[in-house]
Amino acid sequence: MPNATQQPLSDLGTLDTLKRQVLEANLELVRQGLVLFTFGNASGIDRHRGLVVIKPSGVDYAALAPSDMVVTDMDGKVVDGGLRPSSDLATHLLLYKEFPGIGGVVHTHSEYATAWAQAGREIPAFGTTHADYFYGPVPVTEELTQEEIGGDYVHNTGLAISRRFRDLDPLAVPAVLVAGHAPFCWGKTPHEAAHHAAVLETVARMAYYTATLRQGCSGVSQALLDRHYFRKHGANATYGQEK
Ligand SMILES: [Zn+2]
Repeated sequence: MPNATQQPLSDLGTLDTLKRQVLEANLELVRQGLVLFTFGNASGIDRHRGLVVIKPSGVDYAALAPSDMVVTDMDGKVVDGGLRPSSDLATHLLLYKEFPGIGGVVHTHSEYATAWAQAGREIPAFGTTHADYFYGPVPVTEELTQEEIGGDYVHNTGLAISRRFRDLDPLAVPAVLVAGHAPFCWGKTPHEAAHHAAVLETVARMAYYTATLRQGCSGVSQALLDRHYFRKHGANATYGQEK
């Protein structure tokens, strides 16, 4: 079987759609006020071919074109694109390997979600806005050890997320807070991952106000969590227009 670098260019050309989707997801982070300067990154995966498209490292969003998106294999080897991939690539790759149902990953340092991550606190399901998107608290990882930080840090960040989701469904809770760092979000597409990042920030802000106004607030009941989550998700979803 030829490796990806030996594929004819016309083959890689079919990634144009994914490159546009990934660029659009990155620009959405800017539009939603979730990133400052060049912070943040979005990626998407072509599962069929085992290739990931990700934002290049440290390039101004305003200057980005679809052709600037970097294509790598699942080992992080660049197979298309003249720029270096985002420095968080190894975390994205690990999430794609561990969570086979996802098609897009987004990382931001959005203010309120990052504040919860820095405090090392999960975001409780305080209300129905949260329950519409996250079936339970948005979890926080354990802190990375000194060895993990000094070693393959970006990869180890992915491992910490994966460990935290050992008993969680990543599609039912499409976000995590990395302790002392910031959130990662994902979705079935890059667009959905960016959407989840925006919702997470809103939910994090509301949760901050809620926890401030009422310490020890216990949040939504299981009945309300179920009612709202399953209204939008699963076989009996009724939200939106009938298809
Ligand atoms: Zn970061």
